[in-house]
Amino acid sequence: MGAQILDGAIVAERIKEAVAERVRELSAEGVRPGLAAVIVGDNPASKSYVSSKARACQALGLHSEKYELPRETTTDELLRVVARLNDSDDIDGILVQSPFPEQIDPRSIIEAIDPDKDVDGFNPVNVGRLVRGDATLIACTPAGIIELLDHYRIPIAGARAVVVGRSDIVGKPMALLLLHRHATVTICHSRTRDLASITRQADILIAAIGRAAMLTGEFIRNGAVVVDVGQNRVTTREQVLHVFSDNEHAQRLDAIDKRGYTLVGDVEPRSATERAGYLTPVPGGVGPLTIAMLMRNTLLAAERRHVKV
Ligand code: NDP
Repeated sequence: MGAQILDGAIVAERIKEAVAERVRELSAEGVRPGLAAVIVGDNPASKSYVSSKARACQALGLHSEKYELPRETTTDELLRVVARLNDSDDIDGILVQSPFPEQIDPRSIIEAIDPDKDVDGFNPVNVGRLVRGDATLIACTPAGIIELLDHYRIPIAGARAVVVGRSDIVGKPMALLLLHRHATVTICHSRTRDLASITRQADILIAAIGRAAMLTGEFIRNGAVVVDVGQNRVTTREQVLHVFSDNEHAQRLDAIDKRGYTLVGDVEPRSATERAGYLTPVPGGVGPLTIAMLMRNTLLAAERRHVKV
């Protein structure tokens, strides 16, 4: 049979259409939401994320600015860039792409971003608001996952939700959002004993680990909703044959031939699809939602600054 696909790309398109429409309305009032993306160094994955964010801004009619700083930029230099963007009237949202080179203190950077322009939702003020349940700017990936679950009318209240991963950007905010929606939430991590016995209790299982295809079918309860946040590279033919279902082999092998890799999440698609009721694909699941929610957060930040909603 196979699990039903939770198509993040479709939900992301809907969110982006709604953002574009509101951006058109605002432009009639002379307001153009603006996002500044700052990147330090030349990490190829970070560069590609920032470029896709800038392209999304362009497509939706948002103003965007990109700041590419050299690898050896100091914390103080980066703080000065953030301060300028905090003061810029053209900019409603600021994101500083992680990971940072090691000489930079990530906490001081995140704390320096004006909470009202913190479209990643990582500033402690916004994290505090999230804990209290009254945040507006919420971390994009978990907020997008809630949109996805709602789109497919997956009941959250009363469900047993298990989040594997406790990072500040995915695992922790995800657990809080599910809790606010009245799920019974368990958070697992690298020290969790007998992980499978816990994940098998999940009605909703969120995998945010960063380990290629780690959660196989035996970690999944029959019929569970499985959301796979992971984005990992598979580079060998053997891995492809092992982790993907037969019907995906040709396309995945082709990707390896052309680009040298294909993406897999933290869930093993071949065995997971036999157990799960719903499953997000990788790519095309959570990834597009993250960018869509960043656009929405930039819009919300602009509305709060200019329109006082
Ligand atoms: P982090 O590395 O910050 O966190 C990973 C978490 O997984 C940690 O809490 C870690 O536990 C836990 N973990 C690691 N190994 C195990 C294990 N063997 N068993 C149980 N738990 C384990 O990653 P992120 O949260 O930043 O990202 C997770 C994944 O999601 C990555 O693949 C990343 O690329 C992807 N991602 C995708 C996004 C998207 O838009 N699709 C956006 C953001 C991330 P501990 O705390 O004990 O170390």
